[in-house]
Amino acid sequence: MKLPVKIRLKQMNKETLFEAYQHEEVLTYCQSCSNYEKNYSCPDFDFDAVSYLEPYHYATVILTEIDTEPIQSQIDRLDVSGLSSRVLESYQKEKPDETVDMTSVISMYAFNSIKDQMADQLIELEKEMDHTIGLPPGSCTKCVVCSKLQGEPCRFIETLRYSLEALGFLVSEIYKRSFDLELGWAKNTLPERFCSCSVLMSKERIDETMILNELEGMVLEINEE
Ligand code: SF4
Repeated sequence: MKLPVKIRLKQMNKETLFEAYQHEEVLTYCQSCSNYEKNYSCPDFDFDAVSYLEPYHYATVILTEIDTEPIQSQIDRLDVSGLSSRVLESYQKEKPDETVDMTSVISMYAFNSIKDQMADQLIELEKEMDHTIGLPPGSCTKCVVCSKLQGEPCRFIETLRYSLEALGFLVSEIYKRSFDLELGWAKNTLPERFCSCSVLMSKERIDETMILNELEGMVLEINEE
């Protein structure tokens, strides 16, 4: 099953993005996550969003949306063994006694897949547009075990990037302000759509069609039995 990824963009100046900067509050959420201080893409950092984003003046928020109706209608035909993901693995490590329901397995797989695709796409966009940097969704899951845990440097330092959440932005606020979206979550049910939020920071205003062209044709692939 190949599900198309719909892309919506909202370009704004950096000050508008910073209206959703709630560093203290977001850090408390990060501190209760198993990745806190265990992954180079996650807090605590020896820098902050203000200094990290200092060279940039504009933010283009990139929303990905996938309609989940086709998954829901064929859920019995999906190949569960093909739905493993690093996000699921780390969740199970954190809560080994908890049974993860099918809809959560699918949601984590979908998030992981889009997160990885967006991380790669943003790196490509950075190469095409001068003075830009991407903020992909979620934490980095490139390596099975992040080398931070072994006290070693990041294995892919050139492409190490940080999510909006990791930098202290309240992403629910960005969804609301940029796209008038309030995302809910319910156990044992798929949401109406899977969404993720990334940003391409830039020094100058950018041509949005370049982003749309780069991301055209993105799909979420799910194996069927
Ligand atoms: S690339 Fe590997 S070492 Fe670097 S942050 Fe990601 S998981 Fe950690």
